[in-house]
Amino acid sequence: MNYDKNNIFAKILRGDIPCTKVFENEYSLAFKDISPQAKIHVLVIPKGAYTDIDDFYTNASEKEIISFSNAVREVLMLTGVSQNSGGKGFRAIANTGPDGIQEVPHFHLHILGGENLGLRGLRKA
Ligand code: 5GP
Repeated sequence: MNYDKNNIFAKILRGDIPCTKVFENEYSLAFKDISPQAKIHVLVIPKGAYTDIDDFYTNASEKEIISFSNAVREVLMLTGVSQNSGGKGFRAIANTGPDGIQEVPHFHLHILGGENLGLRGLRKA
């Protein structure tokens, strides 16, 4: 799938529209979801132009993949959901393609937590 340079997360990365940043490193950015589905709802994205998780793990460099993994880890710690730091767990979701009902065509990992999630994030209203 071709990458759409005008998708909303590309605009956030360019600074064309604002976001509430949670964490940033060389190749990754994490920010709060604009329409949170739980008390904690953070999106972690690579800065590179990857449409989805499949594209990312197929085409990203080792540096980008390590950077992304580190960013996820930092977000889990910073938001307090990590069970390794006293948190009570979370849900990590990468909606992908039409069957996954992905809306924004730039790879993003949803981190949801801060409360018991039930089925939240697993089905859309
Ligand atoms: P998807 O359905 O593609 O997995 O999720 C896209 C997510 O991006 C949704 O949860 C939606 O609320 C979020 N989103 C859409 N537009 C914006 C925006 O402009 N800013 C932020 N922070 N999140 C957005």
